[in-house]
Amino acid sequence: MLDQYAVFGNPIAHSKSPQIHTWFAQQTNQQLEYSAILAPEDDFEASAKSFFASGGLGANVTVPFKLDALVFADTLSPRARRAGAVNTLQKGKNNQIYGDNTDGVGLVRDLTNNLGFSLADKKVLLVGAGGAARGVIEPLLNAGVAQLKIANRTPEKAQQLVKIFHGLQPETQLTSGNWASLEANQFDLIINATSSSLAGDLPPLPDHLFTQQSLAYDLMYSQQATPFMLWAKQQGATQVADGLGMLVEQAAEAFFLWRQVRPKTKLVLERLRPKQD
Ligand code: NDP
Repeated sequence: MLDQYAVFGNPIAHSKSPQIHTWFAQQTNQQLEYSAILAPEDDFEASAKSFFASGGLGANVTVPFKLDALVFADTLSPRARRAGAVNTLQKGKNNQIYGDNTDGVGLVRDLTNNLGFSLADKKVLLVGAGGAARGVIEPLLNAGVAQLKIANRTPEKAQQLVKIFHGLQPETQLTSGNWASLEANQFDLIINATSSSLAGDLPPLPDHLFTQQSLAYDLMYSQQATPFMLWAKQQGATQVADGLGMLVEQAAEAFFLWRQVRPKTKLVLERLRPKQD
């Protein structure tokens, strides 16, 4: 039997992870099989247990199970513990399950390697304070941003994140606020980590947040530009990106953890991108 890997989610049929990991395996000559598992919403544990008991070696975890995976793991990477979410599981010695979070590294690699955006000394606005936002804060701080402001519809959640990550990189100014607190501010990078685009919606951000060099990044990806990306263009952002590159990069980091081989991501990203006319 080939080495077994999987992605757990609900729904899961739309997931690009089986395709991405199959391409990674072909590219790096790794003999493995990667499947998509639809876990019951109320019983991730049973599904994951059965997968690892029948020989599974590693798994990705997506919506809505990243918190269940945190609880399921026997040991955690420091970044997964701080993020409060696990998107990667690995079976280790004595069948112990290790939990990690590769989402944030995926975002930073996409920004720096694929989009050529240097984070050092930049002013960054992170919109949203859910699971995805929690996962990206630590790698953004480690990349040397000058300021990181977290704004959220429920401002208390953003305040909570500032408390958790405060002091990790003391030279970064880490603050939080509501929409009104953003008035008369400009940022080099604005990251939409809300799920508003899923509903065709947009957080009520004020005008004039972008400079001419700003990058607008939506964690969500879809065939078309998201409402946030369209709004950012209207607002004068010169660079606009979706989260497909982050998806591929977080997958590559998980693949590296499992197989100790780093796949090349550029070709995979090109194959996934819908062709532009
Ligand atoms: P969560 O449900 O954990 O968090 C949702 C966040 O969005 C909260 O901050 C919530 O605010 C906010 N929100 C929801 N609707 C609105 C709205 N209409 N206006 C303003 N704010 C809103 O979701 P996740 O953090 O897991 O996911 C967020 C996004 O990131 C999704 O689109 C997901 O697909 C994407 N993602 C992409 C990845 C990639 O690899 N590219 C990886 C992980 C996630 P409040 O706190 O007030 O409820």
